Amino acid sequence: MSKQMKTPMIQQYLKIKAEYKDAFLFFRLGDFYELFFEDAVKAAKELEITLTARGKGEDRIPMCGVPHHSCAGYISKLIDKGYKVAICEQTEDPAQAKGVVKREVVQLITPGTVMDGAAIQEKENNYLLSLSAFEEDRYGLAAVDLTTGELKVTSFYDGFTSVLHEAASYNPKEIVVASSFAEEKREQFSSLMNVTFSEEDDTALPGEMRELVDSLQDEELAVTVIRLLHYLYRTKKRSLDHIQSAVYYYAGDYMKLDVHSKRNLELTETIREKKKHGSLLWLLDETVTAMGGRLLKQWIERPLLDAKKIEERHTLVGDLIDRFFEREELKDQLRDVYDLERLAGKVAFGTVNARDLIQLKRSLARVPAIFDTALQLGSPYASRLVNEVDRCGPLRELLEASLQDDPPVSVTEGDMIKDGYNEQLDIYRDAMKNGRTWIAALEKNEREQTGIRSLKIGFNKVFGYYIEVTRSNLASLPDGRYERKQTLANAERFITPELKEKEALILEAEEKSGKLEYEIFLDLRKQVAVYISKLQELAKVLSTLDCLQSFAEVSEANHYVKPVMNTTGTVDIKDGRHPVVEKVIDQGEYVPNDISLDESREMLLITGPNMAGKSTYMRQLALCAVMAQCGCYVPADEAVLPVFDQIFTRIGAADDLAQGQSTFMVEMMETRHAVTRATDRSLILLDEIGRGTSTYDGMALAQAIMEYIHEHIGAKTLFSTHYHELTRLEAELPKLKNVHVSAAEEDGDVVFLHKVIDGAADRSYGIYVARLAQLPDQLITRANVILKELESGDLRGDQEQVLVTSGASEEHAGAEHEPGQLTLFDPGIIPESGKEADRRGKLAGAEIEAVKALKNLDTLHMTPFEAIQTLHELQKKLRN
Ligand code: ADP
Ligand code: MG
Repeated sequence: MSKQMKTPMIQQYLKIKAEYKDAFLFFRLGDFYELFFEDAVKAAKELEITLTARGKGEDRIPMCGVPHHSCAGYISKLIDKGYKVAICEQTEDPAQAKGVVKREVVQLITPGTVMDGAAIQEKENNYLLSLSAFEEDRYGLAAVDLTTGELKVTSFYDGFTSVLHEAASYNPKEIVVASSFAEEKREQFSSLMNVTFSEEDDTALPGEMRELVDSLQDEELAVTVIRLLHYLYRTKKRSLDHIQSAVYYYAGDYMKLDVHSKRNLELTETIREKKKHGSLLWLLDETVTAMGGRLLKQWIERPLLDAKKIEERHTLVGDLIDRFFEREELKDQLRDVYDLERLAGKVAFGTVNARDLIQLKRSLARVPAIFDTALQLGSPYASRLVNEVDRCGPLRELLEASLQDDPPVSVTEGDMIKDGYNEQLDIYRDAMKNGRTWIAALEKNEREQTGIRSLKIGFNKVFGYYIEVTRSNLASLPDGRYERKQTLANAERFITPELKEKEALILEAEEKSGKLEYEIFLDLRKQVAVYISKLQELAKVLSTLDCLQSFAEVSEANHYVKPVMNTTGTVDIKDGRHPVVEKVIDQGEYVPNDISLDESREMLLITGPNMAGKSTYMRQLALCAVMAQCGCYVPADEAVLPVFDQIFTRIGAADDLAQGQSTFMVEMMETRHAVTRATDRSLILLDEIGRGTSTYDGMALAQAIMEYIHEHIGAKTLFSTHYHELTRLEAELPKLKNVHVSAAEEDGDVVFLHKVIDGAADRSYGIYVARLAQLPDQLITRANVILKELESGDLRGDQEQVLVTSGASEEHAGAEHEPGQLTLFDPGIIPESGKEADRRGKLAGAEIEAVKALKNLDTLHMTPFEAIQTLHELQKKLRN
């Protein structure tokens, strides 16, 4: 062993490090936190700081460090990257220590347990989850936000996929599991999101935790919550009084939106840039408080299923729209409300200062006016919200009486507590004041006595109070009047015994009052802590009002309409719009569209050229449904909507630009998820499904999927396709209707009208798109000729035959067809052989192939090089 390794300090380091193997150990050495060994090498890279060494030659130990006063930024950088940081402090005064200073880890900071810094966004929760797996594929999930104290728990009986999607909805950075939790399940998470796993096996129930899980009947749920709490206590090592009692919720109480649907619909962030800007949340967020912002995000991710509750919100939004002045008043008042939830967290955590408490006081001062305004709305829902919650009046009075309005950040330097709040403090302050008055009087008196008008009394930390006389006046000073203390360049400083006496009194009072103020402050903090749960309740009501005023604001500004909810499954939207596209559109006007669905019209097959607006139209409905079920108005002139239990959105692999790695397999797995979980109360959007594979495969799958949904699920379904041939299905499937996004031709150019009309598109405009992509004129002209021939030729007849199927297939995509019948699966119809071409009489197989290839080119997503290459290939085929 090298010499360095044997030093007591490194020994101590190694011992502590052994307990925190999965964390960076920030080891306090004087004014620095040092990292050693591998920690140092890794941290130097991650933090871009210099790697140095301790010791010389073979003894060298890699080391790097950050100053303790500026460690916060470094820590949050590591946490952001998913690492954990153990803070190891010196727990005794180095001056008093015999041998190595005692050190202890005082806190483990992990991605799910950060309390401040860059990782904490004002308007976002930071959830830490725990997951427990039980027998028979049952699971428990608990979620806590350490900054707000919110603690929720739920259970699953329907397999791990549900767990995955529910967990993902929390957007967690860290999940606590038992060490036995299956690796393969962890990997399923890792493939969906960036998450750190932490292990906690202690699930025994100590007394102090009992209260938090008292309400839970189920032992398994309690275990799940306790695992989480044990982990918190172990990492934070301090009071967590603000953690609220665990609230059980049933995931089935909310609309189910799996990870893919949330992403595809861009509910809280955009697909490509992962930014809030451009998402539904961005559009709807006119909240003025941080807590309101967080609640709004929760609402959007968990739309309601209870029609009564939904309508309650709609009604209040309506009242707020109708009463402009009350709404403005409400908003103005709310704006001054501080983040009560996180404040409660800081109180419990012991990190609150006097300025925070002043913010609390100011917030509480707004409450009566906010509630009065809410009551004036005359809405039973608002009145209930307001009347059932404690306004924490006594707390406000306490803070009002005790705290000065502009206290310093530090809680140890005094100047926080008001006069008259504490008798002893007043006595000290009087002493200080009297002393200062006496000094002022002395100054005046001495000036008169000596006739030196510039004589003054000053103070500094080294000499205390002194009398200062400038050099030019020294001659006028009677000998021996004062005692000389200090000589400056152009002045002399003096003291007198009386002055020193007063000084002692003043300084003593100052010191004592500083200490006393700190004690008073600590006591005040304790009194505030009693209110933690009341503050959390109050925060809920205020944030609910904030969300609803935000809905009112946005709904009014954008001319949304109150949706009429029904239980029959009818959708009837007049002049509906896509709320975000409508907002960000930079060319032309948004073209509103109707959409109607009911028992006899369950599925729409949407055709139309590329860029016509198919995807937009589909998402428009999903977003309307989400908005309605969150309690917001919807972008339409009239809207009748059912309560959807789930929304599934699947985008054909080739169209899903964001997920470059997305494969056809993923597309099919997502589709499976939709078709196996959807019910007749669900909404399914399938956008160009089957695109990721060859034409016939894709078309066959698309058709089979539609048949399956039509026959077995009965969910409201929008299906867009560029397989024009599928429109024939309207004749087969009674509840399926064709609609198309219209386009007009003007002088050979196609103009997108973005208007959705019943019936199939009359052509697919593939050639037009090819021209947009600037394929050579000659080629385009030829393609047009071929197309004309195809359209008038007997291929038509073939196509009809192609799409005659055995009706809705009983099974899933791979359904067998009766022998002898011509189906999509029949290789015989693929026009490859010369014989086939002969049979068609007019065109050679290669030409048909070329046109087909041309039609199906996804030019928008091709690079110029790919386009040239494809073109070259086509040409080669045709020449042969
Ligand atoms: P598709 O899915 O048919 O290829 P998209 O739905 O992606 O087409 O729409 C393409 C573009 O057309 C959108 O980005 C939008 O700018 C515009 N668009 C779509 N629908 C409308 C509409 N109803 N009114 C105006 N512009 C629209
Ligand atoms: Mg599209």
